[in-house]
Amino acid sequence: MLKLDDSYRHKGQRKELVKTLSKKGIKDEAVLNAINTLPRHFFFDTALGSHAYEDKAFPIGEGQTISQPYTVAFQTELLQVKPGDKVLEIGTGSGYQGSILHILGAEVHTIEYQKKLYDRTRKFLTKLGINLHFYFGDGSQGLPSQAPFDKILVTAGAPIVPNSLLKQLKIGGILVIPVGDRKTQKMLRLTKKTTTKIIKEEFANFAFVPLLGADGWR
Ligand code: SAM
Repeated sequence: MLKLDDSYRHKGQRKELVKTLSKKGIKDEAVLNAINTLPRHFFFDTALGSHAYEDKAFPIGEGQTISQPYTVAFQTELLQVKPGDKVLEIGTGSGYQGSILHILGAEVHTIEYQKKLYDRTRKFLTKLGINLHFYFGDGSQGLPSQAPFDKILVTAGAPIVPNSLLKQLKIGGILVIPVGDRKTQKMLRLTKKTTTKIIKEEFANFAFVPLLGADGWR
């Protein structure tokens, strides 16, 4: 298994990052612990590695980004992950968010639309011993072959809430998805109470890269 250097300095920087997230309003101790546990610098190119513990999004190639830690923490907190939950993440990207879900004890199914990112992240996380279920393709309509899910997390900005995602949730399941235009999106949490009753909650605005594909931006 691949062993990367996680120095005393990195651990200190992570502690500071967790303090920042706490001050910004993240309360879920399990989420903060997961962020404190996972070395974010492992997910960066060496050229940008010194920025890994800034609360900012950074490029990961293919025009995509690793989300800002606050965004990861906010979405994860909304998702209310419990150990054993079957979670679909749409937008694998660097694999950082998927790894946080894994640390929280979820069975993570993650789908990525960019082939190069899919290949790179699958190889890298497997080497690190972080075993997620990886899929390549358009996740804008979910992953019907693996449904139903306890939770679905969309990590790219969508133009609508795809109906197919609500269909693929179990009763009691939660969908967290940023919805808006190409520049800014409102964070939504949809809880499936029954097959026909969905509770929708709205949170702050965020700026994600666009969700592409059939139910995304074309
Ligand atoms: N969760 C990622 C991480 O931890 O690094 C951040 C993801 S980045 C903000 C959004 C990702 O969604 C990009 O990697 C992008 O290629 C992917 N994406 C966009 N549209 C998609 C689609 N229809 N299906 C799957 N992935 C998609």
